[in-house]
Parts: sequence; structure tokens; C-alpha cells
Amino acid sequence: MSFNSLGLDAKILQALNELHFTKPTAIQNKVIPSIISGKDILASAQTGTGKTAGFVLPILQNLITKSSAVKPNTEPKKGKRPLYGLILAPTRELAAQIGENVRDYSRYLPIRSLVVFGGVSINPQMMKLRGGVDILIATPGRLLDLVEKNAVDLKSVKVLVLDEADRMLDMGFIHDIRRVIAKLPKKRQNLLFSATFSNEIKQLAQSLLNNPETISVAANNSTSEQVTQYVHHVDKKRKRELLSYLIGTQRWSQVLIFTRTKYGANHLAEQLNKDGIKAAAIHGNKSQGARTKALTDFKDGKITALVATDIAARGLDIEQLPYVVNYDLPHVAEDYVHRIGRTGRAQNRGKAISLVCIDEHPQLKAIEKLIKVQIPQMFTEGFAINPNIKPSPKNKRQKQR
Ligand code: ADP
Ligand code: MG
Repeated sequence: MSFNSLGLDAKILQALNELHFTKPTAIQNKVIPSIISGKDILASAQTGTGKTAGFVLPILQNLITKSSAVKPNTEPKKGKRPLYGLILAPTRELAAQIGENVRDYSRYLPIRSLVVFGGVSINPQMMKLRGGVDILIATPGRLLDLVEKNAVDLKSVKVLVLDEADRMLDMGFIHDIRRVIAKLPKKRQNLLFSATFSNEIKQLAQSLLNNPETISVAANNSTSEQVTQYVHHVDKKRKRELLSYLIGTQRWSQVLIFTRTKYGANHLAEQLNKDGIKAAAIHGNKSQGARTKALTDFKDGKITALVATDIAARGLDIEQLPYVVNYDLPHVAEDYVHRIGRTGRAQNRGKAISLVCIDEHPQLKAIEKLIKVQIPQMFTEGFAINPNIKPSPKNKRQKQR
């Protein structure tokens, strides 16, 4: 299959060509024709398989064929644009990233898109909404603020996308989502994307979607074969030392590191900087400016290590990211799949290394059970685990954090 045969406009194909998207991924092959035909979709696929283009491309296609406001090869119509597509995402970074993708894919189309999220001033967003936009990418809370201020009218929306819907539910956005949905017209297309199909997702799908097509590529909770996974057993107190050693001796140029807590992320970033490794932390307590800067510096190669909590890193697409390190194992085994899915994206290969101390053996077991793989071990000379170390009394220290 080629993008040509999926019914996309020449202007969209031209953009894809320049992005070197030569052929659609498996999920794109399945969802693009269904979305063009107007169906509701419940879709799940591994991380890094191109879900974003899977929904953005057919939305652009339908926008230019079905909306009278936009026609390729003609000047954009004057006057306020009715909002056509609404894309909801759980985090600011993910919204920004989807916004970039929309801009890339629509670069030859006369459409307007805008990204809005909280944590930054609302006034510039209100200004930009004045002339209307065709596609709005938003986090739920800020969208509701904008609706309340009459800065955006949702009555014209023809298509709603919930991206990373499972994470939106985890983050407690369900009430906001329901409030947004109540403001949309009854008749519309609904697209729900999720990396996993939990029972909660199925419930949401039932209440939201209208006779949906369920599309699933690869088994639930499977990890990408393009990611080589390792477990490195290590004493808890020596994790930082081991990490610096690996980064230094193996000359890692770019590594995304996960910690469980915001405090842990800050602390580790500071320590790595002291070790001479350029690092920054990204988590929910940082200002939006600091989060954006850390991510840009990381993508541009100005810093080597980005230390993140799960929420900040969900859905992020960092081109050709070679290494992911789990400095702490996640408490929720599914998060492991998302974390390591940050590497090995598109056609690239990646390595995911988990530093595991004795207290974390139960989490490791849960992860291996979920992904149905026993993760191979790696060893580093000088970092053999001390057999005399016992598990610490149940998470006492960790709670204080
Ligand atoms: P997902 O949402 O499934 O986790 P993304 O939509 O973020 O994945 O896409 C992952 C990466 O793959 C992005 O860098 C994107 O630009 C790239 N990509 C998407 N579709 C294609 C394609 N057909 N060919 C090449 N690269 C692609
Ligand atoms: Mg995605």
C-alpha cells in the first residue's frame, strides 16, 4: 500500500513526500480509509506506530473535501472560520507535538490550526482564536476555560479526537472530557486512540462512540521489537554512579531517564550535571516555559539527559532517541510499555535499560508478566550487586519523598 492509494489529496502527499513518509504504517493503512468514510473509530496500536498521522491525515482530507470554508488551490475564505476538528490530548507537550504534526502535514493546505494548553497566558490564545481556526488541539482544562470566555464555539465541530485516551482517564480528565462533549453537536465523528484497551477505555468508548469500528494492531501491552530491553541489577545507592558511568563510557549522546517522583527527577538531573553530564528535568511542577525549554534543548542535542516523570513524557516523540533508562521502575506495569516506547520509533532501533534494585523485584515481576517476556540481564564490571543487601523496610524512605 502507498499513501497514494489511500485517497489523500496531492497537496497532502506532497507534504508527506517531503517528510520522507514513503509508505503508511499498519495502523495508518487501517484507520485512514475508515476515517475518510466518516466512521467512528476505537483504535489501539503500539507506541511509535504513527497514530497521529493516522488521524490527522484523513481529518485534513475530509476538511478540504467536505468543508466549504477550505479548498486547496484557492485563497482561504475571509471571515471567521467554523471550528472543524477538535483534538484533545492529556499533556501540554503532547498537544504541542500533535500541533507540529498538523502543521507539517498541512503545510500546502490553506488551513488554520492552533494549539492551546494551560500553564501559559490565555490572552494570546484568545487573540489567535478570534479569526477562527479549522483544527484546534487542546488539553481539556484550558479548552473549557476558553469556552467559558466565549473565545471558542464548539457547535460547529465535525470531528472529535481523543488521543492517549487511557492516559487522560488516568489523569482524571474524565469530567472535563464529559463537559467538553456536552458542548459538541450530537452529530459528529468520534475517534478514540489509546495505547491500551483497559476496561475503562471500553466503557468510555461505549458511551462516546457511535457504532465504532475497532482497530487494533499488535497485541495489547506488547513492546516493540525494535527496542532491545535489558535489566541491570544494581544496589540502590549506586544507581546514579552506574548511570553516569554508562553514559560516559558508552558515549551516549541522548538518553531519556524516568524517575518515579518529581523530587527524584530534579535531584537526579542535579547530580548528573555535577558529574559533567548536561541534564534537565521535566515534570508537572515545572513552569511551562521550563518544560518547553528542557524538551527543545534535548531534541536539539544541547543536553544529553532528560530526566522525566511518567506524566511529562507520555506520548512524546523524540526523533531517533537511542536510549531510555528506567532509573526507578514504574508502579503501574503498563507505564513500562509507554516509557520504553519513547525509543525504537518509526523505523529506528533503540535500547531500554532498567536499573533495578532489590526493592523493585515485585515491580519487575509484574512488568515481565504483563509483556510476557523475561527481560535479559546486563552486567557492568565494578557494579556487581552486593549480596548482603536486604530489601529496605517497606518503602519507608520513598514515602517521605
Ligand atoms: P504514536 O502516536 O503511534 O506513538 P507517532 O504518531 O508519534 O506515534 O509517530 C511516531 C513517529 O513515526 C513520528 O516521528 C512520525 O513522524 C513517524 N511516522 C509516522 N508515520 C510514518 C510513516 N508512514 N513513515 C515514516 N515515519 C512515520
Ligand atoms: Mg501518539
